[in-house]
Amino acid sequence: MKYIDPHIHMVSRTTDDYQRMAMAGCVAITEPAFWAGFDRSSPQGFHDYYRQLTETEPARARAYGIHHHCWLCVNPKEAEDPGFAREVMSLIPEFMDRPNVLGIGEIGLNKNSRNELIILEEHLALAASLDQLVLVHTPHLEDKLKGTRLIMDAIDNAGLDHDRILIDHVEEHTVGEVLDRGFWAGMTLYPETKCTPQRAVDILETYGTDRLWMNSAGDWGPSDPLAVPRARLEMRRRGHGEDMIKTVTWDRPLTFLSRSPRFRVADD
Ligand SMILES: [Zn+2]
Repeated sequence: MKYIDPHIHMVSRTTDDYQRMAMAGCVAITEPAFWAGFDRSSPQGFHDYYRQLTETEPARARAYGIHHHCWLCVNPKEAEDPGFAREVMSLIPEFMDRPNVLGIGEIGLNKNSRNELIILEEHLALAASLDQLVLVHTPHLEDKLKGTRLIMDAIDNAGLDHDRILIDHVEEHTVGEVLDRGFWAGMTLYPETKCTPQRAVDILETYGTDRLWMNSAGDWGPSDPLAVPRARLEMRRRGHGEDMIKTVTWDRPLTFLSRSPRFRVADD
C-alpha cells in the first residue's frame, strides 16, 4: 500500500533509507528546511542548503521512484539574530519558483523568545505576500502549549487562511486546540520523544482523522525513516481497517499538499 511521508529530513539520511522507504510503499515526501545540528556561519550556508533541497535531494529520491518536495525558511533555532535571519530570508524568493518547492516551513518557535517571534511574523508576512502554504514547527515539552498558542495567534494576526497551514509536532495537550481553530495538524513519530506510533494511534482514536496526518521527521538524531509504515502496523494490530490506514497516511497528506500545484505522487 502506497504512503506519503510529509515531513522527513532526507539530507540527514542515507540512500539506503530512500531504498527502504520505497520498498515500504513511499512514493512522495516533503522536506522542511530545519536546523542542521549546528548553526550555519553565513547566509551562504543557507544558500547551499536550499540548493541541496531543490537540486540534490529530488535527484537522489527519483532514483527510487520517490517524488521529493521541500519547504524553505530560516528555522527558529537560527532566528535568534534578526539581522542574520533577514539576510537569509532575502535569499528565499529566488528559490520559490523551483519545481519542488511547496511553501514556507518549518517556521515556528523553539524557545518562545521575542526575536523568534519577530522572525516568525516576518515569515508569515512573506507567505502571505507570495500566497504560499505554511508548515509550522512547535516547541518541545514544557514550551509546547504556550508556543503553539503564540504561533496560532501570530497566524491570526497575519490574516492567513487556517486551511492552508499545517501545525506539526502536535501532542495530546495541543492537538485539540489546533484542530478546533481550523488548522491542519501533524503528529511526529519518534521512537521515544514526541509521539510514539502507539501514542499517535491513541490520538487518532480520540480525535478522529479529520485534518490530521503523521510523519517520521527522520533526521540526524534518534529517529526512524520507516515510522509511518510502523504506525500502520500498529493501526492494523488494533483492528483498524485499511480504509482508516489509507485515510491517515495517504488521503490526508494528499489533500493538504495538493493545494500546491507542484505536489506530485506519480509521473505525469
Ligand atoms: Zn522537522
